[in-house]
Amino acid sequence: MLTMENVNLSIKRIPILRDINLEIETGTTVGLIGRNGAGKTTVMRAIMGVLPVDSGSIRFDHQDLHRTPAHHRAELGVGYLPEDRRLVPHFTVEDNIMVSLWATGNADRARLKWVYELMPEIGRFAERRAMTLSGGQQKLVALARALVAGSNLLLLDEPFEGVAPALAQRLMEVIADLRSEHLSVLISESDYSHSEKVVDKVYAIERGQMSQMPAKAAA
Ligand code: ATP
Repeated sequence: MLTMENVNLSIKRIPILRDINLEIETGTTVGLIGRNGAGKTTVMRAIMGVLPVDSGSIRFDHQDLHRTPAHHRAELGVGYLPEDRRLVPHFTVEDNIMVSLWATGNADRARLKWVYELMPEIGRFAERRAMTLSGGQQKLVALARALVAGSNLLLLDEPFEGVAPALAQRLMEVIADLRSEHLSVLISESDYSHSEKVVDKVYAIERGQMSQMPAKAAA
């Protein structure tokens, strides 16, 4: 379970997150909805530990993430799909997927096999270089990379942004399939049009302040 408690975070002395409280129970999928600039990416970067908090705590399975050194944090099994895909253009698809595990020294082929089973279309272009793929295919590869690393917690930053309807549908199917995997998932979206179908609960964020909403009322 992930908990953020009274988290305040500033960037260049400008307060960005104010008293953020969030809870993701193990095995549930949680939405984070807010307009551009509301603070969604900052919440995810705080959880990843790439941005230091001013005060408050972020705990994952009772470990304080900000007291966990970066190289141990990777071993906690947190996968991140950034808003921009950030694939390495000259690497093959498979190397792009595995790169997140090389960093931990834990190149688990079983996990890769599981991802290919979950998304068989990826296996079909595994040997191609990332730069030869369409934007939609690259999005799937970025999700696969997050899944390989995220054995416990998955952070998906605006996964549906700018994707064609058929791909959005496919992404939703994959996310729904994760329910049986006991993963904790956080999905951000600016308008709550897709994640509504896959989340167990939803938080709204506005100017760095967060409130929990009944899932249907947020639509
Ligand atoms: P978007 O979809 O536009 O990325 P978001 O909800 O993810 O929106 P954040 O990227 O978290 O929003 O940004 C929250 C606020 O923090 C914005 O006002 C943004 O301008 C500011 N911000 C984020 N990073 C920086 C930075 N490095 N320097 C200055 N301000 C920043």
